[in-house]
Amino acid sequence: MLRVTEIFHSIQGESTHAGRPCAFVRLTGCPMRCVWCDSEYTFTGGERMSVEDVLGRVRAYGCRLVEVTGGEPLAQAGAFELIARLCEEGYEVLVETGGYVSTAEVDERAKIILDVKCPASGEAERNHWPNLGRLRADRDEVKFVVADRGDWDFTREVVTRYDLQRRARAVLVSPVWGETDLRALAEWIKESGLDVRMQLQLHKYVWGAEARGV
Ligand code: SF4
Repeated sequence: MLRVTEIFHSIQGESTHAGRPCAFVRLTGCPMRCVWCDSEYTFTGGERMSVEDVLGRVRAYGCRLVEVTGGEPLAQAGAFELIARLCEEGYEVLVETGGYVSTAEVDERAKIILDVKCPASGEAERNHWPNLGRLRADRDEVKFVVADRGDWDFTREVVTRYDLQRRARAVLVSPVWGETDLRALAEWIKESGLDVRMQLQLHKYVWGAEARGV
């Protein structure tokens, strides 16, 4: 069984898949507490559903791209079965994970979007660093949410130390919504010479920062 906050059909808002129609399965619960978290509503509640029930909801959308997200989706044991079943049914599966749980048991057909938590999140010490060694350059992406200059310096250091430009399909750099100085972030990226991708959260521009299930 799974605990599910919401299942909905929308437009992918982040990563190199941004702009594509996508079905989302948002699982409940997260062991982390990033200070700028925009999905605290997933921490509690949710509806208990079987993997089969979730698959039924996803199939009804007729959308071949599916993202399993949270909260922290991999904190639920049933998530691994759900991901494998979606892959078996031929969906293109994205798994958005906060980087605290090991990705070792995720079905290899799924594409990982792996967060690395920066210092201003308050959770940087909980990064599970071996996850970076599992990234596959043809499909997996790594994401840094940057609040300030200290976070950017951390990002630069981790990207270089772990050779992420080569190891990942994309290195995504996201501002904290409403907090990060966007022009400053753009300048830091330009000056660094790193091949990283600044990204904004497309869905928030379309439906607003507080919208859910769209
Ligand atoms: S890992 Fe994601 S869901 Fe969990 S607290 Fe951090 S931002 Fe929120």
